[in-house]
Amino acid sequence: MRSETDPPPKRRKRKPKFGDTRHLFASLREHLASGTASLPDIARLVAEGLGANGSVIYVTRPGEILELVATFGLNINAVGRIRLRVGEGIIGMVAASGDSLNLADAQNHPRYVYRAEIGEEAMASMLAMPVKRAGRTLGVIGVMSREARVYSPVEVESLATVAMLLAEILSRAGASDVGEEGFSETLPRRYAGHVLSAGITRGKVLPYGAAAPIARLLTDDPAAELKRLDDAVESANRNLDGLISGALPGGGAPRDVLEAYRMVTQSSGWLSQVREAINDGLTAETAVDKVARNLRERMRRIADPYLRERLADIEDMIGRLMVALGGMAPKPARADGYILLVRRLGPADLLDWHARGIAGVAIEEASPSGHAAILARALGLPALAVDRGAVDAAQKDEPALLDAEGGTFILRPEPEVIQVYDRALETRSVRAAALAAYRDRPAITRDGTEMQLMLNVGLAMELDQLERTGADGIGLYRTEITALAAGGIPDVAGQAAEYGRVLDRAGQKRVQFRTLDLGADKLLPGESGNGEENPAMGWRSLRVGLDRPAILRRQLRALLLGAQGRPLSIMFPMVATVEEFRAARDLLEAEAARIRPAPEILEAGTMLEVPALLFQLPGLLAEADFISVGTNDLMQFLFAADRGTPELSDRYDTLSSPVLELLERLVTCCQEAGVPLSVCGEAAGRPLDAVAFAALGVTSLSMSGNAILPVKSVLVEADLNALRPVLRELRRAGAAGGSIREPLAAWAREHGLAI
Ligand code: PEP
Ligand code: MG
Repeated sequence: MRSETDPPPKRRKRKPKFGDTRHLFASLREHLASGTASLPDIARLVAEGLGANGSVIYVTRPGEILELVATFGLNINAVGRIRLRVGEGIIGMVAASGDSLNLADAQNHPRYVYRAEIGEEAMASMLAMPVKRAGRTLGVIGVMSREARVYSPVEVESLATVAMLLAEILSRAGASDVGEEGFSETLPRRYAGHVLSAGITRGKVLPYGAAAPIARLLTDDPAAELKRLDDAVESANRNLDGLISGALPGGGAPRDVLEAYRMVTQSSGWLSQVREAINDGLTAETAVDKVARNLRERMRRIADPYLRERLADIEDMIGRLMVALGGMAPKPARADGYILLVRRLGPADLLDWHARGIAGVAIEEASPSGHAAILARALGLPALAVDRGAVDAAQKDEPALLDAEGGTFILRPEPEVIQVYDRALETRSVRAAALAAYRDRPAITRDGTEMQLMLNVGLAMELDQLERTGADGIGLYRTEITALAAGGIPDVAGQAAEYGRVLDRAGQKRVQFRTLDLGADKLLPGESGNGEENPAMGWRSLRVGLDRPAILRRQLRALLLGAQGRPLSIMFPMVATVEEFRAARDLLEAEAARIRPAPEILEAGTMLEVPALLFQLPGLLAEADFISVGTNDLMQFLFAADRGTPELSDRYDTLSSPVLELLERLVTCCQEAGVPLSVCGEAAGRPLDAVAFAALGVTSLSMSGNAILPVKSVLVEADLNALRPVLRELRRAGAAGGSIREPLAAWAREHGLAI
C-alpha cells in the first residue's frame, strides 16, 4: 500500500480501448465554447469518451430527491420521470455518501433498485460519481457497460473530472438550464462543536477558504495556462518571500517555519499534478481546484497530525494560488457582524479578521488550547471548533447562528430556532444593561467585606475593559499573548513600549505583569515543543527563563524601562521551588540596579500553580511580595488532569473539599505573613466560586473582563457570615472529594444570589 509520504504515482498509460481523456475534454470544450452544451450532450460525450455503453445524469431537487435529467444509451423517455430519494438505490447511495462506486456487477449489489422505465437491464457494470460543489451534492453522474468490468483508475479519475466540470456548469447555469429552483440547499444544517471562546451570535456567514465559481473551465491552449500557473506560483512565492524577509526580520522560529513551509509547498509534487491536469485540457484554476479536491479527500483520511500539517501547508499554498489566479476572492475590507467560517486560523489572521469587524468565528480545525482560541477568549470573540464540512456547505450571506456556549453552529437555522435564540439574546442584553449599573459600585459584600476585582488581560486592545468594567486593576497581564499574536517575542524597545502603554492606561490602578509563560499549550509559531511526553509539566515558562536567562532579562529590562519610575509589580509563572523564585527575583534586582529612573515601588510576586509550593510556604512568604493562585494549572497538577483534555474538564471541581481546604490554609498563612493573596485562574470569574473563595477569606480576584460585573453583582448581595457555616457543613459532607457545587448553588439561589 502506498504511504502518504510516497511520491505521487507516475502517470499511467491510458487504455485507448476505453476512450481518451484529452479527446473527451476537447469535445466538451468545443461544446461549451459554442454555447450549445446540453446535459444530453455531456451524457453522450462522457459515455463515448470512456468507452461505455450508456450514461445517466441525475440532479438533486429540493426535498432530497434525485431526478434523472439526461441519459445516453438508455430509454430517453425516463428523463424527468425517474426520481429517487437520496440514499435510494446505487445512485442515491452515491449521493448520500459523497463517494463514488465502481461496480462490475451492479445489478447484484444489495442496494440496486430495478426501475423498468429506464431499460438498464442490459448493463452489467456501473461507475457512479457524485457531482459535488462546495461540499454540496448537486447530483450524480454514472456510466454503464454491458460487459462486467471494473473501471480503471484513469477512467475513474476522468469521470471525477467530468463530475467536477458538470458541477461548475450546473452551478453556473442555475435554475434556467435544468428547471425548478436550482440546486442550492435550503435545509438547516447543524454542526456540533467544542467551545473555544464563549458567546452567542447570530448573523450572516462568511465562509473563507472555499473557491469562487470558476469562470473558464477548459482550455485549448495548455501552454498559455501553464504560463498563467507559473506566474501565479511566482506571485505567491514573492508574497511568501515578503512575509519571510519583511515581516520577520532577525530570523528565529517563525522564519524557520515559513522556510519549511516553502520547501514543502514547492517540493511535494502536487504542482506537477496541476500541470498534468492542465495538459489534459483544464484551465489553471480548474486544475488547481481539482488537485485541491483530491488533497482534501486525502486529508480527511489521515490521522497523523504531522502529515496533516504538511498537507495543510499545501492547501494553504493552493489558497494563495487560487487568489493569484482570480479563483478565490481576497479578504474583504470589512466583515462587520459576520460569522467567519474557516478551516484553520492562525493568531495573526484572527486579529486581522477581528479588526475587519467579525462578530464570531467557527473553525473546522482548532483546539481549545490553540493560539486562535486563546486570542478569541482574550478578545471576547465567540469562537467554536466545528465539525468538518461546514465551510464547504455554506454560501456567503446565508443566515447562521453561532452558539459558542451550547456548542453548536447552525447554518440556515429554522425561524423558530432563531426566535428562541433572539429571545435568549434579548434577555441577556437586558441583563447586561442591569449589570452595567454595578460598574461604579464598590465590590463590598453585605457583611462589609471589601473585595478587589481585577482583570486578566493579554493584549493592549483589551485595556478598554478597565473603564468598561470598572475593574480595580489588572491582576494578571499575560505578556506571552502579544508574542503569540505577533508570532515572536518583540525586541526590548517593542516590549517596553507595550508595558508603558499598559501602565499609561491603568493610571493609578495596580497592574501585575506576569513574565513570559510560553511552552506547553502556548507555543510560538514554528515551535513544536521538545517532543516531551508531558509538555505541561515539561521545560516551559519560568524554567526556560531561568535556563535561558537572556530572554527573561530582556523582558525584565523592558518592564523596568516601560515603567519609567512608576510602581511596578512583576510575577513569575510556574514556580516550583523557593530557589526558582529567588533566582528569578535576583535577575529582576540585577536589571533594576542598572535602570534609571528606578520604579517608585518594585514588587516581585509569584503565581501559585505548582502544588509543591504549598509545602514551602514559610520560605516563600518570607521572600515573595504577593501570591496569585492560578487555579487553571494548579487544578491540573493537583488532580493530575490535563487542562486541555475536554473529557476531563467537568471531572474535578474547584468547589470540592481538597481545593477549598487548600485555599483556606493558604489564606491563613498569607494573612499571618502579611502577604497579599489573590486568585486569578478561570474559577475566580465564576460567580459561585468567587463567593465561596470570598467566604474562605480571599479578598482579591482576577478574571476576564466579561466576568467582572456578573461576579460583582453576586458578591454585593452575598452575606459571607451566613455562608461560612453552610460552606463548612457542605465541605464536611463532601469530604470524600466530590463537588459541592450543586448544593451550594441551591443555597445561593434560595438566598437570592443570581448565580
Ligand atoms: C492559571 O494557570 O490559572 C493561570 C491563570 O495561568 P494561565 O491560564 O495563563 O496558565
Ligand atoms: Mg498557568
